[in-house]
Amino acid sequence: MSIKPARTRVAPSPTGHMHLATARVALYDYLLARKTGGQFILRIEDTDVSRTVPGAEQEIMDGLRWLELNYDEGPDVGGAFGPYRQTDRREIYHVHVNTLVDKGHAYPCFCTPARLEAVRQEQQKRKENPHYDGTCRLLSPDEAARRIASGEKYIIRFKMPREGTTIAKDHLRGEILTENKQLNDQVLLKSDGLPTYHLAAMVDDHEMGITHVLRGSEWLGTFPLHVNIVRAFGWEEPVWVHLSVFLKPSGKGKLSKRDSTLAMTDGYSVFIKDMNELGFTPEGVNNWIALMGWGVADEDVLSVDEMVDRFSIDGLTPSPAAINFQKLDHFNATHIRLFTTEDLAARIKPYFTREGLRVDDNVLLRIVPLLRERLVTLDDCLSFGSFFFKEDVSPNPEDLVAKGLDATQSAAIAQRAFEILSGQPAISHEQCEPPLRAYVEESGLNANQVFGILRVATTGQKVSPPLFESMEIIGREKCLARIKNAIELLKKM
Ligand code: GLU
Repeated sequence: MSIKPARTRVAPSPTGHMHLATARVALYDYLLARKTGGQFILRIEDTDVSRTVPGAEQEIMDGLRWLELNYDEGPDVGGAFGPYRQTDRREIYHVHVNTLVDKGHAYPCFCTPARLEAVRQEQQKRKENPHYDGTCRLLSPDEAARRIASGEKYIIRFKMPREGTTIAKDHLRGEILTENKQLNDQVLLKSDGLPTYHLAAMVDDHEMGITHVLRGSEWLGTFPLHVNIVRAFGWEEPVWVHLSVFLKPSGKGKLSKRDSTLAMTDGYSVFIKDMNELGFTPEGVNNWIALMGWGVADEDVLSVDEMVDRFSIDGLTPSPAAINFQKLDHFNATHIRLFTTEDLAARIKPYFTREGLRVDDNVLLRIVPLLRERLVTLDDCLSFGSFFFKEDVSPNPEDLVAKGLDATQSAAIAQRAFEILSGQPAISHEQCEPPLRAYVEESGLNANQVFGILRVATTGQKVSPPLFESMEIIGREKCLARIKNAIELLKKM
């Protein structure tokens, strides 16, 4: 890999929610730029105006910030190579497309949509691949100029060489050879005066000094066209890297739109905007996407800074990557365990407050060590720890009945535990456990029965962080009140 500072860009179209595929391009771009001391750029490719979704651009910027993949140049941060939104660059494309026309590499086409449709149907009948039949390619420049001057509508097409072979070199896949006669005279400038991706991306990558183009493998089909356009301009080509495709979680077939919806109903998502809501961390998500197409050892838990150290585009792989949400869980949980207490406290607090709970920060700091090992996603803090911030809990009376005993027996145990605990000046782990264990011994009950009742009584749930540590944090008054309430519930059964 070159040690020259790389200029990389992520160039999403604001046509829907930010997908993890965009995040993956951005991550690799970011790693390469940081590794080489270069720049990482955000460019918004919004020339397909009919598909632009309001709010999508903001979602992309928010998503990149959430992932902490901060770009050096972009629509909202500026930079020396702007504007960074393609609809703000119309004149630039016009200048360049005119150059191509002047050099004989592009031509105006006046064919109407109706004519093009008729041509397409004819080709279909003859079982040919749809392609432009070249009618306007034959027009003389004078004739074309006359028709433009008379106000006829037109588009600009690329004049693809008809002879020979195009050799396009992808960094991961090597040389890709295509017979030029198989290539089509694609549209560069549309009738609305806006460029297609083919023109806009090539112009912008050149104008913005992009050294490495990392993009999805869906662009492999038009890759020969793109290198032809760059060569027609006489520009230096960037290093081209087409990343691997994503497969369904089953590994069978490409990930589809429908899979994205299904993932959401499963508590997962392929959209970056959902990750925070679902309790995933930027660290977990970055680690997960990093390894879907980059061949560092599969189980590697890496921070983004560690990734920068180890990154090389030579390590990227073109093999398809199945979306494995279990791995997302794994990386998320592993990173959560690495957070400091203060950091994790700050990250889980919003999950409690959004449930309307009033969070005491001192309590929060004390519960973090109890929760940390139990969290796969940050919002798991709710199922394990909401009771710490509630005035009362509402246990299910059935859950208060210890295994092998009835409600009356369970009430008697709760009553005895209440007496033992109220005899203690404070409920601390050290003070409470020995007398309660002694009671277990002398009563001939088993510890699970006694502690199970106390757990459900004080936390309201059957699964909780360690009982005595939890009770200590809940505090003496609340614990005693909750046990009293449990006794009442049991008596009413
Ligand atoms: N706007 C293109 C897309 O969203 C970007 C492809 C590229 O990175 O060049 O697919």
